[in-house]
Parts: sequence; structure tokens; C-alpha cells
Amino acid sequence: MLRRALLAASASSRLRQLITTAPQTRAIVEKYVAGETADDAVRVTRSLQALGEDTKDPAQAAAVTDEYIQLAGKLGAEGLTHGGAAEVSVKPTAVGLFLGTRTAKENISRICAAAREAGTTVTLDAEEFAAIEPTLRIAAQLRAEYPELGCVVQSCLRRSEADCRALAAYGVRVRLCKGAYDEPESVAFTARREVDSSYARCLRTLMNGPGYPMLATHDPRLIQITGALALLTGRAADSFEYQMLYGIRPAEQRRLADTGAGMRVYVPYGGDWYAYLVRRLAERPGNLAFFLRSLGRNS
Ligand SMILES: Cc1cc2nc3c(=O)[nH]c(=O)nc-3n(C[C@H](O)[C@H](O)[C@H](O)COP(=O)(O)OP(=O)(O)OC[C@H]3O[C@@H](n4cnc5c(N)ncnc54)[C@H](O)[C@@H]3O)c2cc1C
Repeated sequence: MLRRALLAASASSRLRQLITTAPQTRAIVEKYVAGETADDAVRVTRSLQALGEDTKDPAQAAAVTDEYIQLAGKLGAEGLTHGGAAEVSVKPTAVGLFLGTRTAKENISRICAAAREAGTTVTLDAEEFAAIEPTLRIAAQLRAEYPELGCVVQSCLRRSEADCRALAAYGVRVRLCKGAYDEPESVAFTARREVDSSYARCLRTLMNGPGYPMLATHDPRLIQITGALALLTGRAADSFEYQMLYGIRPAEQRRLADTGAGMRVYVPYGGDWYAYLVRRLAERPGNLAFFLRSLGRNS
């Protein structure tokens, strides 16, 4: 119920205006969002060894594309992409997915070229359900030129097991997450237990396949299952990786890295941080109390 309300709040422009202009929200924003500029993301990325969404304006999509290109260049120039250490995650709707797949494909292709030039890779984030099919189609087309282009599967979606089977067959880089969007029963599992079981099934498919699985979760049980499957399938440590969000379970991030496993941290940044942050609050209502306390303390 609370999760639903918060996910609806993530799309509300009135609430967005209220919250993003309140100076009191700083503390919680800084916990989960690197800052507003590419330099902030580079700074945070360095300390560990990318947020505009849903653009409906071609000029803005082009500007966001340029921003991603600039980020890739900066990461490369700072030596942070060496060996694929830092890569760029792209929100397809932010580079014009809903303006038409042609625009988005051209923009994503430019980002892939810049990332390659900088010595790194790109992964296309999975967003709301309407974006899934066009995103996967663009990824499949661009993979002919950029085989290193990654994509994301959300275990909450009923289609995801089939997507995993298809993607594993291509041997590509696939990030598996639970999914952060509120989708209807007709296309998604809505019970936590079902989403987790679906994750485990997708995980098994990816770990048994010839691809490069990227397991994006903070869930201790799923992390444990990943470790067990890696042993069972005889996967080398460099043939898959764990992924977590900036600011979430940092001690566990360190622990996994210390075991020699690949551990990548997703570092969000940008002036348009509101929807991202509210999705995080929906996942962990405990954070909501912290957020409200910071608002209350300062107002
Ligand atoms: C690297 C990365 C990339 C992602 N990319 C996408 C994407 O492209 N598209 C998309 O829809 N979603 C994406 N997500 C978000 C994802 O779908 C989930 O919404 C988010 O990760 C929360 O799910 P969870 O797997 O951590 O499990 P949850 O069910 O949220 O949590 C499971 C357990 O993990 C632990 N845990 C979770 N959060 C915390 C916390 N804050 N502190 C301590 N313990 C905690 C707790 O033990 C909890 O019971 C991404 C997530 C990551 C990590």
C-alpha cells in the first residue's frame, strides 16, 4: 500500500516541486545521490575505486545524450574506466525512447561510441513496462556493432524468464534486478515472494548460460544463492558481477569485493533526482521516517 503510494508520488510533479526545492531534504539526497553534475559522479566513482528521466522533448534528449557522452569522456580521462571498472548506465526514456525508437537508437549509439572511445561499456536501464520492448529491441540491434552493450531484466515481470533465456543464448551482458516500477498484475508479479522466486529462476538461467550476468540486488538470500550457483556452475570470479546502489549496504559491498568477486556500485547523479529517490523510499519505508524527520527538524 505504502509502496504503491510512494511509487505514485515518484510521478507527481507537485510533490516533486515541493520536495526538490526544500533545503531540508539535502541529508537524505546526499546519502543516495552523488550530486547534480558529472563531476560529482566522477568524484564519487573515484572514491569507490550515472539522472534525468522520461524526456518528451528532442532538445532535452539530445542534451542528456551529450551529458552521458561527457560523463564517459570524463571517466576515461580520469583513468576510472580501466578494465571496465566504471561503466555508464543509460535511461532510454531520458534520451528519447518515447519520441520514437529511431531518435533513441541514434542517441544510444552515440553514447556507445563515446563509451568505447573512453574504454568502457554501456548498460541500458529497464524502466516502466511500455519501455521494455523498445529498449530490448534497440539493444539487440545495436549489439551487432557494440556487443558489449548491456541490458536489464526485471524479475517482477512475467516475461522476464523468457527474456533471460533469449538473452543468455546471445551471451550478452545482462543485469538482473527485481524491478522498481509499479506494474499491473496482468504483466507483473505483485507479491514479493513471487518476484523473489522469479529472480531465483532468472538467476539460474543466466548463471547457467554463456553470458555475463550482473546481479543487481541487496537481498542477502539472493546474494547467497548467486554465490552457490557460481560454485556449482564453476564460474570464474571475472565471469559475473554483483551490483548494488550507492549508499545501500556499503559494508556488504566491501565484503563481496574482498572475496575477490566483481562488485559494481550504481552511482546516480543529476538535478532530476526526485523520481529515483522516491523509488528508493518505496523499497525501504524505514528511510521514509528518516526523510520525514529531516524535514521536520528543519522546518
Ligand atoms: C545496480 C542496480 C541497478 C538497478 N537498475 C535497475 C533498472 O535498470 N531498472 C529497475 O527497474 N530497477 C533497477 N534497480 C532497482 C531494483 O529493481 C530494486 O528496486 C532495488 O534493487 C531493490 O531491490 P532488492 O533486490 O535490493 O531487494 P528488496 O526486496 O528491496 O530488499 C531485499 C532485502 O535486501 C536488503 N536491503 C534492501 N535495501 C536495503 C537497505 N537500504 N539497507 C539494508 N538492507 C537492505 C534487506 O535485507 C531486504 O530485506 C537496480 C538496482 C541496482 C542495485
